[in-house]
Amino acid sequence: MNINLSWARRASRVLTPILACVTSAALLLAFAESVEQDQSTPPRKPTSAPRKVVEQPRVLVFSKTAGFRHGSIPTGIKTMVELGKEHGFDVVTTEDPARFNEKELSTLSCVVFLNTTGDVLDDAQQKHFETFIRNGGGYVGVHSAADTEYDWPWYGRLVGAWFKTHPRIQPAKINVEDRTFPATSMLPPVWDRTDEWYVYRDNPRPNVTVLMSLDETSYEGGGMNGDHPTSWYHDFDGGRAFYTGGGHTNESYAEPLFRKHLTGAIMWASGIVNTPAKKRSPLPANVDKPVDVLKP
Ligand SMILES: [Zn+2]
Repeated sequence: MNINLSWARRASRVLTPILACVTSAALLLAFAESVEQDQSTPPRKPTSAPRKVVEQPRVLVFSKTAGFRHGSIPTGIKTMVELGKEHGFDVVTTEDPARFNEKELSTLSCVVFLNTTGDVLDDAQQKHFETFIRNGGGYVGVHSAADTEYDWPWYGRLVGAWFKTHPRIQPAKINVEDRTFPATSMLPPVWDRTDEWYVYRDNPRPNVTVLMSLDETSYEGGGMNGDHPTSWYHDFDGGRAFYTGGGHTNESYAEPLFRKHLTGAIMWASGIVNTPAKKRSPLPANVDKPVDVLKP
């Protein structure tokens, strides 16, 4: 995995307000300390060197629901916070769509839609998020992120495919088609796990790079004629977008490999790690070309 140079460029844009903010906070803290000390001990000499500031990406985890609400959302939020601490990115969690404003978004490297559902952003918030992506921001969609914002065509292209239906929760075999990507490089060629496996309205393969697809012979209710992507990524409208269909169950977030999968996705979408540009995955020979309905 290569360090992404564009991150450095974007980081300087993103981090400037953060540094200013942190520096202000440090100054305020120093000020508060000196005021306290005035009341008890002689004032300390002011320090000349600024406090060391660690530059790290900032990720917003958004889990607002306007439709079905997954019981695993609190576990998912807790997991994202843990992953941030383990891997060195700041995590801010919210269900407040007002956080989708120009000022807040300009401080972020990536926004995770964690099991969002339905119409969660108003028109102005949607425009701010589109601008964030166009400025090189990252998007990670988890599970019902594909069951979100059906009336926002840009979002449909960003996420790659919308939810249609799902069979019961059950084990399945996942073919890991691309094991060079940061979110899949740690996975076995065939990944056995249990989750709620979405059927999508359209096959996203023509528009994205598919990372993993479900072996529809390994479970009941496949529903996508044998070509069933379940995780993918693409460069989209100036930014980066990743989606994974897993994450319905609480148990998912305790799986070491699923946690690594999410971590790799966030690090890629944040621009911390990169992957060489590649051609789109070829279609399996026995599958008819899906209709490309998501094109603008
Ligand atoms: Zn679900």
